[in-house]
Amino acid sequence: MNNENKIDICGLELKEFAAQIKETGEKTFRAAQIYKWIFNNGESDFNRMSDLSATQRPKFAKIFNAGILEIKRKSVSGDKMAVKYALALKDGNIIETVKIYDNQSLDKYTICVSTQVGCPVNCAFCQTARMGFIRNLSAAEIIGQILAAAFDEKNSSEGLSNVVYMGMGEPLLNYESVIKSIKIINSPDALNVSMRKITVSTAGVVPMIEKLMAENMPLTLALSLHAPEDALRDKLVPLNKKYNIKSLIDTIKKYTRTTKRRVTIEYVLIDKINDKKSDAVKLNELLKNIMCHVNLIPMNSTGNGFCAPSKNKISEFKNILVNGGTNVTVRSSRGQDINAACGMLYNEINKNINISSNSNSNDNDSGDGNQS
Ligand code: SF4
Repeated sequence: MNNENKIDICGLELKEFAAQIKETGEKTFRAAQIYKWIFNNGESDFNRMSDLSATQRPKFAKIFNAGILEIKRKSVSGDKMAVKYALALKDGNIIETVKIYDNQSLDKYTICVSTQVGCPVNCAFCQTARMGFIRNLSAAEIIGQILAAAFDEKNSSEGLSNVVYMGMGEPLLNYESVIKSIKIINSPDALNVSMRKITVSTAGVVPMIEKLMAENMPLTLALSLHAPEDALRDKLVPLNKKYNIKSLIDTIKKYTRTTKRRVTIEYVLIDKINDKKSDAVKLNELLKNIMCHVNLIPMNSTGNGFCAPSKNKISEFKNILVNGGTNVTVRSSRGQDINAACGMLYNEINKNINISSNSNSNDNDSGDGNQS
């Protein structure tokens, strides 16, 4: 079987993998052994799985892949707190994944995964939107990103504290793969990340938010709102023409009532676009009585004409929300110097790297050329 047709183990739940192992004529406990090698050690070479017999190793290697994605390029931010990975998919497409350290001792980190190659939502301020939409990722390709980033330079995934679905793509437009990957991330047999440490972000795909609500998963939902009224949101997040603010707010209210989970509202603050005092007042009004927390994210300048407001304007906006009774935090995005911050993932690497090459480049700091 050639590499492209092999089954990627990391995209299977353990019981599914055990069923596949049974089909090979081997005992199902082999599945748990291999699963441990992959998820506990980041091992992808069957020859190094010492508890498999000499005949089983080549036999499994013919049928299966671990599914850990290959790192084609790695960029480390100047403060060493963020690492952006360009990862190769089997079809030659490249996606980006970001590892963000939670503290200076670098012992805890969050991985931000992509769910699509490109994105169809076409938000005005987003670099990924410029790629257009190419395709959805499989569950294996989502998990393969986490394994690549977690086991980079380490043989343990200890330290992986959070997974956020905030990379390239709209997660809820790739619903089945996203849900399956969440189950694998959460499984004690696999990555064992608590549901409460998993965040799924959406630009507001209302029917899929309803569907997610019915899954009864205690994860965090993050809604990228970015504007308090339809006329402006239609321009910033064109999906708003389909699911307007009223329908979104109604759905979010239902979501919080049903799940008893607080929703995160993401609001990218853009100078002279959505940062007026009146916008803050309207936002307060909109979110009144909703169990939510607002993250204000000053726009990361990407050369597309949008930039962050001044510090004064940001704190003025924040204070209006605070005084109106809204929970709010101003988030500084890590990794801006490597274009790894919110809305900055964009890949031109395909043009620059020979996909068949095995050489990884390790670009320290900025200048990775991912921003046009
Ligand atoms: S901000 Fe998110 S939803 Fe909007 S275009 Fe970018 S990746 Fe897609």
